[in-house]
Amino acid sequence: MDKKILCELLDAKAEYLNQLSDEIWETPELAFTEQRSANVLIQALKQEGFEVTVPVAGIDTAFSGRFGHGKPVIGFLGEFDALSSLNQRAGVAEKQSDHPGGCGHGCGHNNLGVGSLAAAIGVKVYLEAAGKQGTVVYYGCPGEEGGSGKAFMAREGVFDELDCAFCWHPGTTNSVTSGSSLANYQILYSFKGVSAHAAGAPHLGRSALDAVELMNVGVNFLREHVIQEARMHYAILNSGGISPNVVQPTADVLYLLRAPVTSQVQEIYERVNDIAKGAALMTGTSVEIKFIKACSNTVLNSTLEKLLFDNMNQIPLPEYTAEDYSFAKAINESVENRTPVFEKLMKKTSSEEIIQFLKDHEGRDINDFIVPLIHSEQAGGGSTDVGDVSWVCPTAQISTATWASATPGHSWQIVAQGKSGLSHKSTLYAGKVLAGAAIDLFENPELIQKAKDEKQKKLDGAEYRCPIPKDVKPTPMGKM
Ligand SMILES: [Zn+2]
Ligand SMILES: [Zn+2]
Repeated sequence: MDKKILCELLDAKAEYLNQLSDEIWETPELAFTEQRSANVLIQALKQEGFEVTVPVAGIDTAFSGRFGHGKPVIGFLGEFDALSSLNQRAGVAEKQSDHPGGCGHGCGHNNLGVGSLAAAIGVKVYLEAAGKQGTVVYYGCPGEEGGSGKAFMAREGVFDELDCAFCWHPGTTNSVTSGSSLANYQILYSFKGVSAHAAGAPHLGRSALDAVELMNVGVNFLREHVIQEARMHYAILNSGGISPNVVQPTADVLYLLRAPVTSQVQEIYERVNDIAKGAALMTGTSVEIKFIKACSNTVLNSTLEKLLFDNMNQIPLPEYTAEDYSFAKAINESVENRTPVFEKLMKKTSSEEIIQFLKDHEGRDINDFIVPLIHSEQAGGGSTDVGDVSWVCPTAQISTATWASATPGHSWQIVAQGKSGLSHKSTLYAGKVLAGAAIDLFENPELIQKAKDEKQKKLDGAEYRCPIPKDVKPTPMGKM
């Protein structure tokens, strides 16, 4: 299919797609509780003629929509969960909320889910028109934030049928996603002690809060003796009550451990477990260790990255209005502690030419251009459960300039821009690029083989093993 026809087809659906994204923005839901958001996408898939399966992998808010028959099978990954405490009014460049403390789409997954849906719709129409054999599958993947929904789905073999997968993430640049992501484990440590009057009978008390504090001190000393790239974060979910004059009988601390590859996280995890047990021993308490979730590092695929880059250049960039630019400017001005926009990207390349290109493009309110292709195996600071899919089949991702150039991650500024012209247009652009790349794969199956060979070579015989133990079930956010 001519890419021009693909663009016209999706342009004609722009208003409909924007509405879906706005609807998801209006009902922000946390990991594994995204019933309403999932339903918006499920109904849309049905309306567009996809065969819908729900639930998938035993997860209520996971689903898939498929069209076509036989090989190859190309998948698009969609997300739709929100973040806590980021509720924010749309279209304003200052912090304002109609539901203070409520959830908000602070990672742009309302756009993400719909951009991937647009791609699936584009490919469906192509398969119909071309009369080609092949299948397109949209995966509704819940709980990306703190849940690793895709890792649970991968554990159950959901992605095994795929030849290749594509995903995108809203961002501040139009670029092919470069660099790996960190593998991570999330674990809940629950300490149990004995309550007592803190002044009258302290000798009878065994403090679970003391245990949490000692555990955190232990882990903070561990930092010096792990690899540089490791990250160890914690949040105290339960401090055992609000009365200092009662010895705290229970306390819970949630840990998030990260490192470039899963085996490194596993090693750190075992050492952190020992520290937890040591803290229990020191305080006369007991500890229960509950594995919450994990995700794998991303296996990059330069064959698919190049294909996405070519499509970014073939598909016309969105045209932004004066209003889009002025809102972006206001958002940028609202950002405190601004860092140079391309700082991270520049660290990923040694090409003088690309560095100069980025320097020349610094300072725009919207990064309304395509960043040159950078391939870096370096792991960035974050993690994504797209990593697990990338172990199963060749996978690649892009970012589009969905937000003003200085927008920080997980911020109220992202929520404020979630229904803007900028986010709508860039979501559609992402859908077109992903669809274009998938169509190229159907037209040139040798590219699929090339991508698979590259993945095989990179894994060097290693097979995907889901880092989440078999008996662990997805835990809704806030219900640990
Ligand atoms: Zn996020
Ligand atoms: Zn995200």
